This record gives sequence, C-alpha cells and structure tokens, in this order.
Amino acid sequence: MEIQPKQNTVKAPAEWFTGDVYFDVIAGARPEPSRMRVNTVRFTPGARTAWHTHAVGQTLHVTEGLGLIQSRGGEIVEIHPGQTIYTPPGEWHWHGATPTDFMEHLAMWEAIADGPETTWGEHVTDEEYTRR
Ligand code: MN
Repeated sequence: MEIQPKQNTVKAPAEWFTGDVYFDVIAGARPEPSRMRVNTVRFTPGARTAWHTHAVGQTLHVTEGLGLIQSRGGEIVEIHPGQTIYTPPGEWHWHGATPTDFMEHLAMWEAIADGPETTWGEHVTDEEYTRR
C-alpha cells in the first residue's frame, strides 16, 4: 500500500483548451497492465476543451458547478453534479463550464499500449460554444 503525495495542480495547455482550466492528477501512470488514468479537472466560466476523441473512451463524473458537453453533430447538453457521462472510443466531443459557472469533473480514461490515448482537434469556437 502507498499513500501517494499530493501532486501540484497543473494548468491545462492552451493548445488543447480554451480559457483557464486546471487539473490534478489522481491516478497517473501505473505499473502495467494497469492503464487507468484519473484526473480532477476544474474549468473556469467559459473554459472548455478543444474537440477531441479518446482511444478507449472516457467516463466523466461531474462533482461541482454547471457544465456543457457536446458530441459532433449533437446538441449541447448541460451537465450537473452527480451525473456520469460516458463517451465511447473515437467519438469527437468537447466538455467545459457554462459561460456563467465553474465546473469540476473527474475524468477517467485509459492509456493504450501504442499511439495517443487522446486525439486533439480544433478549438471550440465562441460561435460553436454559444450555439444553444
Ligand atoms: Mn473527453
């Protein structure tokens, strides 16, 4: 057993996020065969990911605030604390805070043996973000 030290909060990179987003690594690289990855992610109002996909899918669990999520070709959906959202492998989507609220979620996904676990695309434009 190992009680792991708290790691510093990390600012999410501007290449992949719009606005101010911070994450804490809860479960980073684990000994093989584990590929589990878990982060707490905090979005400030108006902040969101770029469009992206996850090789093995992703489970999000909203813990605080008010958020938005959209899959390519779908409606923007408001997400609330206590809700769990599953995005299947390869599905293009984005997630973030509403324009007026913070949002915090747990992000759970898996690394893969070769290739990127997350594939990043275009930023979510203000026009896309406000199209509700
Ligand atoms: Mn995602």
